[in-house]
Amino acid sequence: MRIVILGAGQAAASMAARLRANGHDGPLSVIGVESAAPYQRPPLSKAYLLGEMGVDRLILRAPEWWREQGIELRLDERAVSIDRDRRKVVTDRGEVEYDALALTLGAAPRRLPAEIGGALPGVHVIRNLSDVDLMAPEMQPGRRLVVVGGGYIGLEAAAVARKLGLEVTLVEAAPRILGRVAAPETADMIRDLHRAHGVEIIESVAVERLTGDDRVTGVALGDGRTLPADLVVTGIGIMPETALARDAGLALDNGIAANEFGQSSDPAIWTAGDCASFPWRGARVRLESVGNAIDMAEAVADNILGAARPYAARPWFWSDQFDAKLQIAGLGADYDRIVTRPGDGAHGGSVWYFSGAELRAVDALNDARAYMIGKRLIEAGRSPDPDAITGTADLKALLA
Ligand code: ADP
Repeated sequence: MRIVILGAGQAAASMAARLRANGHDGPLSVIGVESAAPYQRPPLSKAYLLGEMGVDRLILRAPEWWREQGIELRLDERAVSIDRDRRKVVTDRGEVEYDALALTLGAAPRRLPAEIGGALPGVHVIRNLSDVDLMAPEMQPGRRLVVVGGGYIGLEAAAVARKLGLEVTLVEAAPRILGRVAAPETADMIRDLHRAHGVEIIESVAVERLTGDDRVTGVALGDGRTLPADLVVTGIGIMPETALARDAGLALDNGIAANEFGQSSDPAIWTAGDCASFPWRGARVRLESVGNAIDMAEAVADNILGAARPYAARPWFWSDQFDAKLQIAGLGADYDRIVTRPGDGAHGGSVWYFSGAELRAVDALNDARAYMIGKRLIEAGRSPDPDAITGTADLKALLA
C-alpha cells in the first residue's frame, strides 16, 4: 500500500512515525510546501521568537531519522490537485500515486486586506518558521509594536515583544480579548497580566487601515486615532487549508469533514490536525492545537492500517505569556455558568466552565493543580458540584 501524506507539519510527522511503528513497511511519502522539515509550531510565538530556543530544537526529527525510517520527505513541493479517480496527487513537480492519502494541511493565517495596508513591509503574521525568521530581527528594544488581534497568538507576541523591550499596544476589535476561546473571567486575568507588564490593550476598537508608503508607519483606528508603529503583528485567526479538498469535491464542514475514524467523504482520503473537523460528543469540532494534531494523526495512522479506532479527542491547550502559564482542559463553548477559584500567586487562579451540571472546561493560570484535577475530571466525564470548587480547601477532594 502506497501512503502519501500531504502537508509536512506536526500531524504529518506523528502520522508517519506511527505508520512505521505499526509495521507499515510499504512506500510512504510526506510532501510539504515549506522548506523546513516538520517542526514544532507552538514555540514560534514563544521561546523561538524570544530567541531562547534554536531551530535545532524546533525540528521534530533529524534528517537521518527520515532516511532510516525509509520515509520520503519531499519539501518545497506544493500539491496542486488530487485526481481521485486515478488516485494521484498532482504537484508542482509531477505526479504521485497513492492507495491511501492523508491531508494534514494545517491552516493559514487570516491577513488584513492589502487594500487597507495588510501587505505593507513591516506587517507580520506568526504561523510558519519563515514568518518568524522574517520578523524576529525587527523586534528591537524601543521600537513600537502594534499587535492586531487579542487571541492567544497576538497576546503571546505582545508578551515576547515586551520582554524584548519594545513598546507594545494590542488592538482587539471585539468587546474584549479572547472572545472566541475564553470566558470573561480568564480574559480579565490575562488583561491584568499584560497591563502589569506595560502592554496597552485597546478593546472594542476596529482597525481601519495600516498607514505608510513603502513600510508600515501606523495603525489608524475606528475611533479616529492613529497609533504610530515601527512594526505590526496580526493575530486575527486562522483558516483551515481546504482548497485542495474542496477542488477535489470532498465534503467540507468547518474544515475537511472527517468521520469518527478521520476518514473524509472519500474512503481513500484521510485527514488530521488543524484542517480537519470531526464528530465529538454530539457536535462537530475542529481543534487548533498541537495535542489534537498528534492524537488525531496517530488515530488516523491506526485506521489507515485497518484498526477502526474512533478518535476520542481530549482537548487541551496552553499559552505562555510573560512568566505566566495558562493551561486549558476541555472545550468551554456553550457554557452557562462559570465558577472561579483563586490561585496562590498574584496572577493566577482557575476558571471552571459548566453547562448545566456538566463540567466542560477549566482554564488555569499559574495553577497546575487546578489544571490537572480539572483535566482528569473532564476526561473521566465527571462533574463536581460547582459550589465545591470554591468551597473545598483541597481541590484533590474533588477526585475522590
Ligand atoms: P489566533 O489563533 O490568531 O489567536 P483567535 O481567533 O483566537 O486567533 O483570535 C483572533 C482575535 O482577533 C479575535 O479576538 C478577533 O476578535 C480579533 N480580530 C479579528 N479581526 C480583527 C481586526 N481586524 N482587528 C482587530 N482584532 C481583530
